[in-house]
Amino acid sequence: MNIHEYQAKQLLKQYGVAVPPGDACKTVEEAKVAAEKIFAAGNKLIVIKSQIHAGGRGKGTFKHGFQGGVKLGKSVADVVNFAENMLGKTLVTKQTGPEGRVVSTVLVAAAEDIKKEFYLAVLLDRANSRPLIMASTEGGVDIEEVAEKHPEKIIKEHIDPLVGFKDFNGWKIANALGLRGDLAKQAVRLLAGVYKTWWEADAAMVEINPLCICVGADGKEKLVAVDAKIGLDDNALYRHKDMQEMRDLAEESPLEIEASKFNLNYIKLDGSIACLVNGAGLAMATMDIIQHYGASPANFLDVGGGASKEQVTAAFKIILSDPAVKAIFVNIFGGIMDCNVIATGIVAAVKETGLTLPLVVRLEGNNVAAGKKTLAESGLTLITGDSMADAAQKVVATVAK
Ligand code: GDP
Ligand code: MG
Repeated sequence: MNIHEYQAKQLLKQYGVAVPPGDACKTVEEAKVAAEKIFAAGNKLIVIKSQIHAGGRGKGTFKHGFQGGVKLGKSVADVVNFAENMLGKTLVTKQTGPEGRVVSTVLVAAAEDIKKEFYLAVLLDRANSRPLIMASTEGGVDIEEVAEKHPEKIIKEHIDPLVGFKDFNGWKIANALGLRGDLAKQAVRLLAGVYKTWWEADAAMVEINPLCICVGADGKEKLVAVDAKIGLDDNALYRHKDMQEMRDLAEESPLEIEASKFNLNYIKLDGSIACLVNGAGLAMATMDIIQHYGASPANFLDVGGGASKEQVTAAFKIILSDPAVKAIFVNIFGGIMDCNVIATGIVAAVKETGLTLPLVVRLEGNNVAAGKKTLAESGLTLITGDSMADAAQKVVATVAK
């Protein structure tokens, strides 16, 4: 699960990382009030930032023609104008795809006087099975491009997960970034805070791009996290109540949200054969065999080990709301699952949804005879397959016509 920049900054702040003070605003009026407060505190410049779960906002364009999802404003009037052009509008960036994302929140903050931009991230290095801190003097820009053209400009520091982050890790990175004196000391503290955020939030990734050297009102240089992106590990979310509340459903695909309500693991794909399968391994094998016989799966859908009639019906409805679906392949191996429950669910779902698409069913395992009987006596026109290969060929044949 991803969270917004303003939420990521709240988390980082709790671990002592310096972030610019600001407010998340949902209306133009709120943005105006926030701007007045920031100017009243003596700041001369404000930054207003569109909150979407995608990067590249600064260089993005709104569908109505307005340029830039991150803007600097010199007056309350500027901020009001920018908020009007961002809130409720669709922002398209390199990372959103052409459909873009609707902005429903803006972050209004005091703009920093930036002297230099760095890149910083903490993630898990699968190749080494260790946490990895990556940093670069080439911040603010596309880091993938830096990695490709100038891999020597990316500093990598692995952390021993048993020992944890130690100051010497921080000094090494600070030194490689060319930081000296007080800034190097600040960097060590900041790196420790960013690493702790990553570890304690069970994050998959924390990325700060840019991490900046800024000049404070007192003329002193300080290190500030000007942008922040955090991806959380869904499997650990159950132990972070506060972070669960940061979920923004507007940023997720409507079909996937509907599926998660029924505890179904659904991921939409580009093909035409919908799959309804129990178990992730069988779901993968089903997608492979569809490809093998020359068609493409429309989705990954795992109804789990003990699906109910309600779940099967919900699964059918989700599958059918995808207009690209031309046929349905139900592939169930009843281990824990009772095949007759699935069969009853299929019959109910077909009747409830008025299904007209070809439906191929392959049932095997626990109570399969009763399941087959239920299907046979239902009066529905469906195609049955004896083996997985047989059923797969039959469903591919229905779309090949
Ligand atoms: P992104 O484009 O989605 O990655 O959004 P960022 O938060 O990284 O902002 C894009 C760029 O806007 C940054 O690289 C900065 O150059 C600039 N920017 C963002 N915040 C500030 C700020 O407080 N002051 C100044 N001067 N520039 C900023
Ligand atoms: Mg950025």
